[in-house]
Amino acid sequence: MPIDPRQPYDDSNIFAKILRGEIPCNKVHEDEFCLAFHDIRPQAPIHVLVIPKGAYVSWDDFTAQAPDAMIAGFIRSVGTVTRLLEVDGPGYRLMVNMGTFGHQEVPHLHVHIFGGRQFYQMIPD
Ligand code: AMP
Repeated sequence: MPIDPRQPYDDSNIFAKILRGEIPCNKVHEDEFCLAFHDIRPQAPIHVLVIPKGAYVSWDDFTAQAPDAMIAGFIRSVGTVTRLLEVDGPGYRLMVNMGTFGHQEVPHLHVHIFGGRQFYQMIPD
């Protein structure tokens, strides 16, 4: 079910548990701003999630509330992860689902990195 993006941050969401090390993930990268790990139900040959280290429900929450240094550091980290994955050469797609219409399911901001194949249609359904 998509989330209500105006809800307060819920510490019990699955990505909060992954950040706290309470449940495992298939880690790609970690730094002071982010944790990146493989999506459990990949929708492309490469499908990695990058989440900020902080209590941000959504892209809207993050861009409204996070300090400038966090926003800059997190965006730079997404770039770092794409280069680690070596998708920067052939190219890739980034996606952030936000709120109900965006069909965001986990209430902790996450950037999807899709790669490893050619993409065509921007909005498939
Ligand atoms: P969204 O619809 O943008 O909220 O995407 C949530 C994503 O989180 C989906 O692609 C799920 O497959 C992924 N996901 C859910 N639980 C886990 C988990 N424990 N580890 C890795 N990915 C997960």
